[in-house]
Amino acid sequence: MPSPSYELARCIVCGHTDAEVVATTDDIRAEVEWLWKYHQQRLKSEIPAQRLVDRVAFSEPPPFRLVRCNECGLLYRNPVERPAELTEFYARSTFPPDVLRSLHDTQRKALRVQARELRDVLGRPGSGLEVGSYVGAFLAAARDEGLQVEGLDINPAVNEFTRSLQFTVHDGELSTFSTTQTFDAVAIWNTFDQLADPRGAVHSAHRLLRDGGVLALRVPNGAFYAAARTSLTRDNPLKRSIARAMLAQNNLLTFPYRWGFTPPSLTRLLSDQGFTVKRIRGDVLVPIADGPLEFRRASRLVIAGMDLFQHPAGAYPGDRATPNDYLLMHDRETELAIVNEALRRFRGEVTVLSEALAEGLARRRGAAPEPTGQ
Ligand SMILES: [Zn+2]
Repeated sequence: MPSPSYELARCIVCGHTDAEVVATTDDIRAEVEWLWKYHQQRLKSEIPAQRLVDRVAFSEPPPFRLVRCNECGLLYRNPVERPAELTEFYARSTFPPDVLRSLHDTQRKALRVQARELRDVLGRPGSGLEVGSYVGAFLAAARDEGLQVEGLDINPAVNEFTRSLQFTVHDGELSTFSTTQTFDAVAIWNTFDQLADPRGAVHSAHRLLRDGGVLALRVPNGAFYAAARTSLTRDNPLKRSIARAMLAQNNLLTFPYRWGFTPPSLTRLLSDQGFTVKRIRGDVLVPIADGPLEFRRASRLVIAGMDLFQHPAGAYPGDRATPNDYLLMHDRETELAIVNEALRRFRGEVTVLSEALAEGLARRRGAAPEPTGQ
């Protein structure tokens, strides 16, 4: 991959240039090291590098520097890679058919949730266009829910693969995509945060939608990265390592995205273009390649601090002075359900030191008795 050239950026949501640094070049370099270490510790060594695509080796290079807009809260790269080169990285990268097939199968299961939700918001079956359709996983999940979704992607080689699965896929990008058709829904699940011009994309999506049509977006939560980033440098070693693990597990370490939207900044961008926000839902990382990966098995798990937002000193990660920006996406019951599910699958010794967590788990298990994880 050639090294990119950069240009100075400003906030694409509100146009301001007033911003504070969230991660310096050195911070990002350290995150790259941590990410490799994190995955080296949990993955068996014989896994081929290809299988780590989008887990360790991202299609987007790490940022040179990351800043947060003081006006609207958007996280953005400044300086930023020139758009043309970025597009080229995407248009060129491809993998052997067996890897594409494996990505399709794994992502399809996870995207069922998105397909159902879109069908639910629409209130009926309908037509759609997915921008960044890649290996066609959402096209398949949507078809299972009665939605007729076509794909649009800038990678002709990958589109060839997706067409082989009997889907309609257009080569190209949203800004120049021309059709006489209009759609009930436009979905951008995986690429909105990586587009050179998200504002233009929202405008184009609006043009392609029927009256009352739905635009569905999925983006990494920039507010979560920024809050955890604070923990990486300011908190004690335990909190630092937890923050690192949370960032790594959610593909946020090294920030392999162009934009870090927060709920308020994304809402502002959409409202500017005539959209009304109907629903914001928290989500975790889609399993990208869990099939071929094999994890080392731990025999003992000790959960030290997990306060489930009950700690009097403030929400984690953060401190008393930091508002809990990410609460919108996370709440006590959701976190508890995720932890409970993870522990239910864990075969080994579990010690829970956190009182809030022990209580919560006991309460859930009282409702539905489950093994305690020995
Ligand atoms: Zn802004």
